[in-house]
Amino acid sequence: MYLADAGYRLTLVDRSPAPGTAQWWTYGCTHGGDDARMFTFTEMDGYNNTDFHGGVPTWFRRPVTDCGWLAREPWSLTPQEHAWIQAFESVPSWLARAYTADVFALSAEAGREWSALRARLPHLFEDVVLTDGILRVYTDPDHLRAATARHRSIGALLGEVTPADIARDHPALARAAGAGALAGGVLVPGFTLNVHRFTERLVAHLVDRGARFHWRTPVTGVRRDAHGALVGFDCAVPVPEHAHVIASPGVAGAALLRGTPCEGRVHGVLGGWMRVDNRDPALRTSLKVARRGHVTEDANITVARDGDGRSVLIVGSGYGYIGTSDSPDERQLAAIRAGIANTISQLFPGSAAPAPSSRTHDNYAFKYCVRPWTATSLGLYHVEPRQMGRTAPHQGGLFIVTGGHNTGGFAQSPAIGRAVLASVCGTSHPMHTLYHPERHPAPAARFAPLSLSSPA
Ligand SMILES: Cc1cc2nc3c(=O)[nH]c(=O)nc-3n(C[C@H](O)[C@H](O)[C@H](O)COP(=O)(O)OP(=O)(O)OC[C@H]3O[C@@H](n4cnc5c(N)ncnc54)[C@H](O)[C@@H]3O)c2cc1C
Repeated sequence: MYLADAGYRLTLVDRSPAPGTAQWWTYGCTHGGDDARMFTFTEMDGYNNTDFHGGVPTWFRRPVTDCGWLAREPWSLTPQEHAWIQAFESVPSWLARAYTADVFALSAEAGREWSALRARLPHLFEDVVLTDGILRVYTDPDHLRAATARHRSIGALLGEVTPADIARDHPALARAAGAGALAGGVLVPGFTLNVHRFTERLVAHLVDRGARFHWRTPVTGVRRDAHGALVGFDCAVPVPEHAHVIASPGVAGAALLRGTPCEGRVHGVLGGWMRVDNRDPALRTSLKVARRGHVTEDANITVARDGDGRSVLIVGSGYGYIGTSDSPDERQLAAIRAGIANTISQLFPGSAAPAPSSRTHDNYAFKYCVRPWTATSLGLYHVEPRQMGRTAPHQGGLFIVTGGHNTGGFAQSPAIGRAVLASVCGTSHPMHTLYHPERHPAPAARFAPLSLSSPA
């Protein structure tokens, strides 16, 4: 959208079917997941150990069933996946704190951009169940204290609430608060929306501006010459030599990333989705729920509408590392599903699954999508020139790769748009260096394969 607004002619190719026309498993993360996303200043986060006194984080090695994040059989992990996990574990706490601060700075930029977009293009945000302000609730008092301090330190704290405040101001949570399930919460700035309704509007907006979309159109390879220079793309839609090419392929980008320093850095961490009726007393504020020590420790609960306009709550939660594979272990997936169901029953006792809607995509018991994740928790931003002309080679357009934004790809997207626009205009943007793929050494090059036990 930033490129279209700046006057660039856009052609978009996506290997998935047009949104809303096929089953969820045929899509990437944004459209394969449910119709809900949240912006908060900590949405994309650092997941490495940031505690000076903390030990090596082991959650990528422990199965989900043991409150870890591993959703594969340990024996099935490849040497590259072991190396990626070790790279994750090896980020020292001081560096992880610096990386997290950079991620948050880019989210702050994205926050300003989201506000500007809402003012400049209000039609994009109409009828998308835009809901302002997020209530974060915690089950553990120590976790609540730490989270309150964290949000205060980055200027993202609107207020603190006790269980009694929660029961009074949010009757939908009164039973949970009354039963002692919540230690309290904080109100933070942010918003949620129905992301599929939003992207529908965004696609229409771009088509109005002359953009052409080609669905079910994979880019199957990147062609390089003997020196590694990028000379072309394998795609049914011709790519002119002088065109800039921006690749944002989520977790499925191996073919596009080959030969770039992003290769091997993006692994998959799935999260699950379920829906419940938003009955009287209905929840009006979207939630972030933190259940320390629980199998699905973090959940986003978004106030939403189904295809027939009925109010529902969409719950997205759980972390399941699947690395470079596309299929999780069924037992671990079942544990995530059970964890989400348990969160729902704790917060909304007696709630029911919604009645089927006339929009088939609303109707599922449980589904998941896979977040693109890096070992450093930093996103990736790579730029290289394309080469044109066989006899007298000279520089064509740019090839730009973005991705790996873990839990905040939606939240950070306007900052990513700004960074891409800066590259094609020849100006600088902090993302170009902060998310440079070689800011941290390549996991595969640096680490030998590991045994399955935790490192000393
Ligand atoms: C449970 C859950 C809850 C979440 N909640 C939030 C939230 O509240 N806020 C937030 O900001 N983020 C959230 N996220 C994360 C967010 O959904 C992701 O960060 C984001 O969707 C990633 O977007 P993407 O464009 O990078 O990848 P994708 O959405 O996967 O898009 C990549 C696209 O590239 C296409 N593609 C791939 N390879 C090729 C190829 N070779 N040729 C052509 N096309 C190709 C795919 O078809 C796909 O359409 C959540 C994730 C989960 C799992």
